[in-house]
Amino acid sequence: MNDAVTRETLIPRLQDALGAHAVLGDAPDIVGYTEDWRGRYRGEALCVVLPSTTIQVSDVVRLCAAAGVPILPQGGNTSLCGGAVPPADGPAPVILNLARMRQVRQVDAANGSMIVEAGCILKTVQETAAGVGRLYPVSLGAEGSCQIGGTLSTNAGGTSVLRYGNTRENVLGLEVVLADGTIWDGLRVLRKDNTGIDLKHLFIGAEGTLGIITAAALKLHPLPTQHSLAWFAPRDPAAAQQILGRFQNACGSRLSGFEIMNRHQLDRVLANVPNRRNPLADAHAWHVLVELSDTRDADGLEAVLTQTLGEAIEQGLIEDAVIAANDTQRADLWEVRHSVSEANKKAAVGLTTDCAVPVSSVPEFIDAATRAVHAVVPGLDIAIVGHMGDGNVHFIPMFSFAAWAALPDSGSMGDILRACVNDVAARLSGTFSAEHGVGQTGLPLMQRYKSRAELALMRTVKAALDPNQLFNPGRLVP
Ligand SMILES: Cc1cc2nc3c(=O)[nH]c(=O)nc-3n(C[C@H](O)[C@H](O)[C@H](O)COP(=O)(O)OP(=O)(O)OC[C@H]3O[C@@H](n4cnc5c(N)ncnc54)[C@H](O)[C@@H]3O)c2cc1C
Repeated sequence: MNDAVTRETLIPRLQDALGAHAVLGDAPDIVGYTEDWRGRYRGEALCVVLPSTTIQVSDVVRLCAAAGVPILPQGGNTSLCGGAVPPADGPAPVILNLARMRQVRQVDAANGSMIVEAGCILKTVQETAAGVGRLYPVSLGAEGSCQIGGTLSTNAGGTSVLRYGNTRENVLGLEVVLADGTIWDGLRVLRKDNTGIDLKHLFIGAEGTLGIITAAALKLHPLPTQHSLAWFAPRDPAAAQQILGRFQNACGSRLSGFEIMNRHQLDRVLANVPNRRNPLADAHAWHVLVELSDTRDADGLEAVLTQTLGEAIEQGLIEDAVIAANDTQRADLWEVRHSVSEANKKAAVGLTTDCAVPVSSVPEFIDAATRAVHAVVPGLDIAIVGHMGDGNVHFIPMFSFAAWAALPDSGSMGDILRACVNDVAARLSGTFSAEHGVGQTGLPLMQRYKSRAELALMRTVKAALDPNQLFNPGRLVP
């Protein structure tokens, strides 16, 4: 099938393989695939292909390999670091979007597993699991549009890492199309399998640089049906951290969410997203959403929540608190949390960072990063929102659109301020990318923060699995 395929003849050959309807080449048809969610990154693509089977993905890979045209695998294009769109320069790739591969192939409630194709939307997966009384726990603001393949390739985190771990910890097996078109069927649904190197972990978090994930076997958990949720204003991040420890001691793994945001971040949500309201009566500097959940014993959950919050209020650790009275109120409070990215996109230019530090260092990180940023731009607004329970803080210096446009060199300013924040994380033994991945934003940072040995190992893996640089060339390892 690959006779004499060249860059010039690739599009008709792809049309032969997939059907003309599954190959988009006209500019108006592909603009949604070549520009990122926030409109900050855009590049050129030779075309966009939409295969509907694993065999078709393999056909595309063989054709592109023969023509020497790189492939950019793409999911829901919700990457927050420019990972899912082509570079502004360099040869235009074929974008291989998995949206048409969205079958649920198997659900096994007794085994606690399901096998889904890579293009399944995360929310669909959650709902399908819930339909058989099981939980797929990965949850994040983009869950209505990001795909399972994208969440695997970025090892996405979100709001339930505290209890269930990140995506990597919720995967049992993968199906991947390799650089020569071979289909690797690793769709095992076992909890235990010690037969050599666990290959799936190479592809999870590899951001599409080693192969194309076409399906995954996911781990399911018992579905919590009882929830108890509160929104409270801690005195400061150190108080929030103390309260986190108390909840962990009081209810162990029933603690399923502990999310922090500062006042500036809450104000952005209230001002920019319709139908969001301040959960508390007054303005407070810090806010925390805490959720407990279990498969039974709603009264027990409520009792732990009330008692732990009550003690903290008495000791002056909490300024105010409200407990959700029903599921609607609970959903409303989660909506406030999940509206953060949408609000920040509308509100201003936010220099999003994605650091993680040891949980015990979160207050120190916030304090030191604030001082570092204000040493460069005194008084600059900073939105802070974080998954405090797992040490991941999005520390976001924010410029109004006008102030940003007026800067003589906004690119350098962005680099300087992000470096201030990331350097603090590095000093505290943290990372510059906890859950969003590296993408285009983080690429220069790999050189700065990863050791030579680590980069050399990554290059060795890349050379072994993708010797001709077919998948996302130039990404992940500088
Ligand atoms: C409103 C909002 C909230 C968000 N909240 C969070 C959050 O809380 N936590 C978090 O971790 N992230 C969050 N994100 C970031 C983003 O949603 C996640 O990174 C998500 O995992 C990306 O999935 P996607 O399908 O959109 O992948 P894309 O953005 O399309 O792709 C991401 C990367 O994966 C690669 N890729 C995609 N599919 C495949 C595949 N099948 N095989 C191989 N490589 C592939 C791409 O090449 C790219 O490098 C948020 C984004 C938005 C817009």
